[in-house]
Amino acid sequence: MKTLQRRFITLLLGLSALWLLAPASDLSNASGFFAWRNLLVQYSGVLGIGAMSVAMILAVRPTWLEGHFGGLDKMYRLHKWLGIAGLVISILHWLSAKGPKWLVGAGLLERPPRGKAPEQTVEIFRFFQSQRGFAESIGEWAFYLAVVLIAIALIKRFPWRWFFASHRWLAVVYLALVLHSVPLLSFANWASPLGVVVGALMIGGSLAALISLFRRIGVKRRAVGVIERAEFLEGPRVNAIGIQLRDRWPGHAAGQFAFVTFHAEEGAHPFTISSAWKGDGKLLFLVKALGDYTRTLASSLRPGDVVSVEGPYGRFDFEGAARRQIWIGAGIGITPFIARMQSLAVTPDGRVVDLYHCRSVDDPVAGAHIAADAQAAGVRLHVLVSGRDARLSGERLRAEIPDWRDAEVWFCGPSAFGDAIRSDLEANGLPEGRFHQELFAMR
Ligand SMILES: Cc1cc2nc3c(=O)[nH]c(=O)nc-3n(C[C@H](O)[C@H](O)[C@H](O)COP(=O)(O)OP(=O)(O)OC[C@H]3O[C@@H](n4cnc5c(N)ncnc54)[C@H](O)[C@@H]3O)c2cc1C
Repeated sequence: MKTLQRRFITLLLGLSALWLLAPASDLSNASGFFAWRNLLVQYSGVLGIGAMSVAMILAVRPTWLEGHFGGLDKMYRLHKWLGIAGLVISILHWLSAKGPKWLVGAGLLERPPRGKAPEQTVEIFRFFQSQRGFAESIGEWAFYLAVVLIAIALIKRFPWRWFFASHRWLAVVYLALVLHSVPLLSFANWASPLGVVVGALMIGGSLAALISLFRRIGVKRRAVGVIERAEFLEGPRVNAIGIQLRDRWPGHAAGQFAFVTFHAEEGAHPFTISSAWKGDGKLLFLVKALGDYTRTLASSLRPGDVVSVEGPYGRFDFEGAARRQIWIGAGIGITPFIARMQSLAVTPDGRVVDLYHCRSVDDPVAGAHIAADAQAAGVRLHVLVSGRDARLSGERLRAEIPDWRDAEVWFCGPSAFGDAIRSDLEANGLPEGRFHQELFAMR
């Protein structure tokens, strides 16, 4: 996550540096309240539209960026942070634009003398000047809508389907904010590196918004398949769903996930592909009956149902220099490890691996499957059952695995649990970048 945080901060600092170096951001000549206010409006405008443009681009799942960010789950986390940053910055932008007007209206501030706007010689800038009024009002309304839509996204009380249905409208809001930003960015800044970068980000973001609005996200990575097997394991309350793909599938690395649509009206949900790729078009998904929709699968899925699978995505692929690995799968977070064990059973990689599976229920059938996969892959399996065994902690791991400092740790499960283990191991000497965590929450 530190890498992601660094990327997030670098983006905002990069935009800030470009703005500071831009011709119209001359702080040394700024004097008086309204001069500083105008600079703040320009700066927050650039930062806000920059953050939202990158968030928009990440929303369309650009796989060519996955390697850079460590997987789509991380890109969506950055998307979320940029959305929140965009909201906070645009509130500051709105307040710095409107606030002084309210103060003038309340007689608390004197309106600055307004000279005649300089005559623009460049045709396009003359046009932008003529659009100021339109740009200001479309920006204001888009801002109010953005606040509502981002609030729905952040407040988890709103069910996923509300979030999902409303979130798409943010693409429309984004396009309106581009129409607001283009004419209002200081003309002198257009002809500068800042103008080039912000312009490119807005073009990229606008294309992404159109891809989202025309529902073209991931279409090239979608395959149709038929359910061959739909079995509900009562003990762990997990649906085992076997799919035979009809369309071409590019193959996948063990640990990757896909967006699966079992019912078109519900839309896609992300699930880890719980089987290694054998080139036979078969995929297995293990889906915990967890929430509104997944609880219905046991009674709604039937062999023969047609489904769509989009992917593969993710970089939870067990690649790394270390010859030693420690795996921790909590609950349904065992799925990427099942796929990896199946792949190691066919193509061993010579690494020494310990797998800790923390379960709330010790189901003999599911347990036997996992034990058999571990045996075949040569993985040392440790099973911890809540209520029977002590919780897994970093301290316990360090005590049980003497060479833990030489290992790479792969964790999949509840974020807080992962963060606790990571901070313990890193505080005791695990080098940064050796703890890999798949994020199962996209909201
Ligand atoms: C990369 C990744 C891999 C995953 N792999 C598996 C797996 O192998 N097996 C498994 O059982 N679960 C897996 N999940 C979790 C699974 O996607 C959710 O549990 C499921 O979508 C919940 O749907 P629901 O309607 O039952 O839950 P709700 O009750 O609606 O929500 C429960 C949680 O699931 C999230 N969620 C709901 N719908 C969606 C959706 N369409 N897209 C994304 N998140 C959603 C919500 O934000 C909420 O946090 C994975 C998630 C991610 C991000």
